[in-house]
This record gives sequence, structure tokens and C-alpha cells, in this order.
Amino acid sequence: MTTRVGALALQGDFDAHLKVVSDLGAHTRAVRKPEQLDEIDALIIPGGESTTLIKLMDAYDFWEPLREFAGRGHVFGTCAGLILVAEEVINPAQRSLGLIDVTVERNSYGRQRESFESVGDFADEQATGEAESRRIPMVFIRAPRIQRLGSDVRPLATHGQDTVMARSDHVMVATFHPELSKDRFVHQYFLDMVD
Ligand code: GLN
Repeated sequence: MTTRVGALALQGDFDAHLKVVSDLGAHTRAVRKPEQLDEIDALIIPGGESTTLIKLMDAYDFWEPLREFAGRGHVFGTCAGLILVAEEVINPAQRSLGLIDVTVERNSYGRQRESFESVGDFADEQATGEAESRRIPMVFIRAPRIQRLGSDVRPLATHGQDTVMARSDHVMVATFHPELSKDRFVHQYFLDMVD
């Protein structure tokens, strides 16, 4: 069966994510209402501005449906999406869904480095076969930093000293924007995780 992937389409660059997963063969859907979560197997929560996303999630009553969805589907949160799914948010503290046990610091790179492109290292120690270590391009935009990983959270990629991509069970997160690079590895990894 073809995997059905949605992107939370309240704000941010959800279209770019849907284009990538569509190119990779998934059925896609822009999720604008909670009931649309019933029609997908996996959800991408894109980057944007987490404070705005929180207001829109209030307005459209997305909080409980998203928590329920995470009990049955896979979730990939990037940048602001990571901030929304984290257990704890600092700088400043704000509400979050608590779907993965990490502490995230917002806007952690400061004003000097508001946005930049770089290359980091992916390594999945539990994977076998090919895909298990490689360099991946990373675009950071007013990016957060993961300051604490819970014991059930597995680091997947680093940039310098920082873990910039991680997963626990069926929730994956990245501090960068994989949809803005030509490399599709991160989305393919997510689709493989869903299958
Ligand atoms: N700085 C944003 C926030 O704190 C996240 C930026 C992004 O998603 N690119 O919500």
C-alpha cells in the first residue's frame, strides 16, 4: 500500500515537504483540519514560527487530535515542528505536544547566524546495510538546538557538537530544513521508517 503522508498546513513551508515525499512516491495531503489526520499514516510538522503555530493549533483545536495521531501514526517535526513536538521548550518556555523526550532551545544560534547552510553527518547505529552513515546538507533558519535527549531518544545526525536529527520509536525530529536541500535522504529515511 502506498504510504499516505500529510503535512500540517497551518503555516510554514508544508508545500515543499509534500513535493519531496510526492516525488518519492507517497500519497500526500495538506492537513488543515484535525479530521484529515484520519486519512494519513504519517505527518510532517514543518518549520515556520512556533508561536504562530501554537495560536493556530488553538484556533483549529489540533492539540488532542495530534496527540492521538502520534499514538497510531508517525510524526516528523522539523525546526518549529521539532519545537512543537518536544517534551520541553526553553528560551523561552512554551507549550508543546510532548511527543518526544527532548529539551529544545529556540533560536539557539543567535542573531549572527540567523540562517546558514552547512553539511552534517548522519549515522544510524541501529541500521544495517547501506544508508547508515553519510554526509547530508543542512539548511538552518533561526534554528533551535536540542539541549537534552531522553534515554529512549536515538541521535541520527550531528552538526559539530550538536545532535541535529533524532528519533524515538515513531517520532523523528530535525533542527534543520531538509526540504530546502536537493538531497532527499532525510525524507526517504522517514518514509522507510513509516514502512
Ligand atoms: N525560530 C522559529 C521558532 O522558534 C523556528 C524557525 C524555523 O522553523 N525555521 O519557532
